[in-house]
Amino acid sequence: MKNKKRIVSVLLAVLIVILLALLGGILYQYFHVSRELKETKMGKEYQNESREEEREPLIQTSEQQADAETDTTADTEETADTVPMETEPVQEAPAPEANFLEGLTASQPGDILESSQINMENLPLYFTAEEISEEILGRINGKSYRDNPNIGLDQLRYLKMLHYNFEHQIQVGEMIVNAQIAEDVLGVFRELFQNEYEIQSMYLIDNYWAGNGGDTDFASIEVNNTSCFNYREVTGGSSLSNHAYGCAIDINPQQNPYVIYENGAPSQWSHSNADEFIDRESGKAHVITHEDLCYEIFSNYGFTWGGDWENPKDFQHFEKPVV
Ligand SMILES: [Zn+2]
Repeated sequence: MKNKKRIVSVLLAVLIVILLALLGGILYQYFHVSRELKETKMGKEYQNESREEEREPLIQTSEQQADAETDTTADTEETADTVPMETEPVQEAPAPEANFLEGLTASQPGDILESSQINMENLPLYFTAEEISEEILGRINGKSYRDNPNIGLDQLRYLKMLHYNFEHQIQVGEMIVNAQIAEDVLGVFRELFQNEYEIQSMYLIDNYWAGNGGDTDFASIEVNNTSCFNYREVTGGSSLSNHAYGCAIDINPQQNPYVIYENGAPSQWSHSNADEFIDRESGKAHVITHEDLCYEIFSNYGFTWGGDWENPKDFQHFEKPVV
């Protein structure tokens, strides 16, 4: 009996030890797995954080890129260099905004303008007429204009207009004409400009003042200047010229001289710089004929041409007398 009890006690003890060991094993497993799970979770969070850190520079890059797209082409190219992953095509820089002149108030006669400054859709901006200002009166008083019973300042207009010069540059011109034909003259010169017709220069004749109307006309012709108003008598006579009323315009006078004929042949002209233009069939540039655009446009506006006079002929001269 005693042995039996001892055996049972030993078995019980062994059983308890085994149970404890099992329990210990279970607890160990539990805590071990739990820690692993925790570590794994932390690891995932860490990874997420790392990815966010990786994303940040990408976001910055997108912002920089957005800035660059509104910037110049050079900057866009620079950004493209630093972001090789960029696959979108580099956008071209937008065309520069049109920088048209609003008019010629800030431009002086003789100024050369760029074609990019001219709004060809709104040419009247650059073909303007205004009353004779104090400033203009200061330039002409006692010269091309003087007190007289035939024409007053209020009957005249100061025009600013564009023309192509002989270098085919766009140049600012000026002219004083009779108020009654001012709109016609603006129309004529606007059409000449649209067709890129070349006129060497267009200044008030007072720029060449030589003491009287006739000598001043001569000086202006010597430099091939195009002009209109000049209170003077007709060439070789005592009556008033249509230039005295601002109703006659002389175009490129060197190429289009005033010529006296004898027996149908040219015999006299005043300017030796016109020698090579006496033959009107030469086909040379700026020579006005019935086929020339200048003749066509002036005729369309009701002007008559001095080239159609019997004798003498004045090939530079277009006029439209006022009523
Ligand atoms: Zn004339």
